[in-house]
Amino acid sequence: MASFADFHTRSIQDRDAFWAEQAKLVDWKVSPQQICDYSNPPFAKWFVGGQTNLCHNAVDRHLAERADQAALIFVSTETDQEKTYTFRDLHAEVQRMAAILKDLGVVKGDRVLIYMPMIAEAAFAMLACARLGAIHSVVFGGFASHSLATRIEDASPKVIISADAGSRGGKGVPYKPLLDEAIKLSAHKPAHVIMVDRKLAPFTPVAGRDVDYAAERAKHMDTVVPCEWVESTHPSYTLYTSGTTGKPKGVQRDTGGYTVALAASMPHIFEGKPGGTFFCTSDIGWVVGHSYIIYGPLIGGMATILYEGLPIRPDGGIWWSLVEKYKVNVMFSAPTAIRVLKKQDPALLSKYDLSSLQALFLAGEPLDEPTAKWISEGLNGKPIIDNYWQTETGWPILSICNGVEKAPSKFGSPGKAIYGYNVKLVDDQTGEELTGANQKGVLTIEGPLPPGNLQTIWGDDKRFVSTYWNTVPNKMVYSTFDWAVRDEDGYFFILGRTDDVINVAGHRLGTREIEESISSHPNVAEVAVVGVADQLKGQVAMAFAIAKDTSCLTDDAARKTLEAEVMKVVDSQLGAVARPSRVIFVTALPKTRSGKLLRRAIQAVAEGRDPGDLTTMDDPAALQQIVDLIKS
Ligand code: AMP
Repeated sequence: MASFADFHTRSIQDRDAFWAEQAKLVDWKVSPQQICDYSNPPFAKWFVGGQTNLCHNAVDRHLAERADQAALIFVSTETDQEKTYTFRDLHAEVQRMAAILKDLGVVKGDRVLIYMPMIAEAAFAMLACARLGAIHSVVFGGFASHSLATRIEDASPKVIISADAGSRGGKGVPYKPLLDEAIKLSAHKPAHVIMVDRKLAPFTPVAGRDVDYAAERAKHMDTVVPCEWVESTHPSYTLYTSGTTGKPKGVQRDTGGYTVALAASMPHIFEGKPGGTFFCTSDIGWVVGHSYIIYGPLIGGMATILYEGLPIRPDGGIWWSLVEKYKVNVMFSAPTAIRVLKKQDPALLSKYDLSSLQALFLAGEPLDEPTAKWISEGLNGKPIIDNYWQTETGWPILSICNGVEKAPSKFGSPGKAIYGYNVKLVDDQTGEELTGANQKGVLTIEGPLPPGNLQTIWGDDKRFVSTYWNTVPNKMVYSTFDWAVRDEDGYFFILGRTDDVINVAGHRLGTREIEESISSHPNVAEVAVVGVADQLKGQVAMAFAIAKDTSCLTDDAARKTLEAEVMKVVDSQLGAVARPSRVIFVTALPKTRSGKLLRRAIQAVAEGRDPGDLTTMDDPAALQQIVDLIKS
């Protein structure tokens, strides 16, 4: 076994040879001619000249060896369904979905938007797009019509695939009315909508536009749809994520680089073996779901569990019962979910045979020590591997790579820089690299970004450069927008975002998006949204708003009424996922003399901390008002 340090050094210093080796983990129709073309920084092209297909690598290529092995295990504790699809079954279902898309005119390069709950058809949909070389854009089911509309407009899909409803805690959550509303709001109209009817919420199809999945599928039981071989650099998907500005960014991923990156991550990071089982509890609407519910495990020849439901229903042992039943080897979740489980009876962990489990990976938000300790003890010391990454990168930047070299974890640290990532901590004021131990800086990555990372922002190369590469003075490096320190052993510790992004239960939200939504309420003049530390969710959004007409705010009950109304606006536009925990009405917001909102100061006082240097503040009474309100 190579030492991890050597492995990492080789990936940077002998980059092309290193990645040429990893590229052997996937099937190519035409082998790459050039490993990395970085002649036009910061745009990196990986495996240039190569032709491949993501669906082929995830499904078809396993048929020879493991056609009858489980590929997709769909479990819904919402609808009490449980079904295992072998690679042969999955191959057939994906072709049926691909045939429907083809009938509707979808060809290579077309966009297909997927707005679906966690059901097997969502996986078929993603893989069917990849099969055709169509570019999918999955929108998280928790987003409401306004969020969905901005994504429809930006991705301009030919077809949307959706369902009548999701389900949460046993209650149907209709999707179709939100989708119809979003299409109405969007300037772009899809030609067709494929509707998976789960019979959870009655709906009226739009004539000429909506097609019924079950009826169309029945026409294609044996239709063969070959994989479309695409250039390595052909976009496989876009996935929208939040940043500082209100408009979400369509993170665009390639095909070849992404396939290789995921294929390599299976042995090196996750120690996942063909024939094993992977259980990632995320949602397909997030990057972790793309990479480690759908593509990564399947590319690695593993079965993957797609779970619809809560972690505590029917009880807090449900996930562990699945680990036992399906002999899960690798599990991937988020700290928030573990904090939820921590409130349950600890005996639920020891009730099941978890001997198959090798490790639990956690990502998406900081992993606090009590949670890490609790789950580590509960799993009898099995490795708990905190790993750090972003929608943009598609796979981890920081982690322990036990498949390369076994290494201990340190509480509070997601480990070291992973192979392929030339991570640098830099001073945000000077751009100078910080090489000493325990110096705080912005975590940046020197280009080229490794395979699997974003190619650009969909339709906006300029924004890609200005957003990520032009933020540090005197240096063109990719900014993660996270503060971090590195200790003397090379372990990183993430200290929080440098921008206006907050992380609620592992969900990344732009405070500006929430502010824009709240401002659309007719009685809101101005608002500041900040992330406030929360024991369960890591952070929650808190809004401080100025009402246009204060005459209605006569007492606490009236304030509560307006607060509830504002929350309803956010629910209906962005989705409950973005709903602030409180909307507190104030008469002024703290600003600098030049009129910039002092969000950091608001956040500090909302968390009961010292707001720090306030010399540029215009009206100290505005902040004092917030201090008093928080105290009361
Ligand atoms: P997303 O793009 O939704 O995956 O969110 C990415 C952001 O989540 C990062 O920039 C970090 O701020 C945060 N994040 C992800 N993983 C971790 C982790 N393991 N520890 C601390 N923060 C994390």
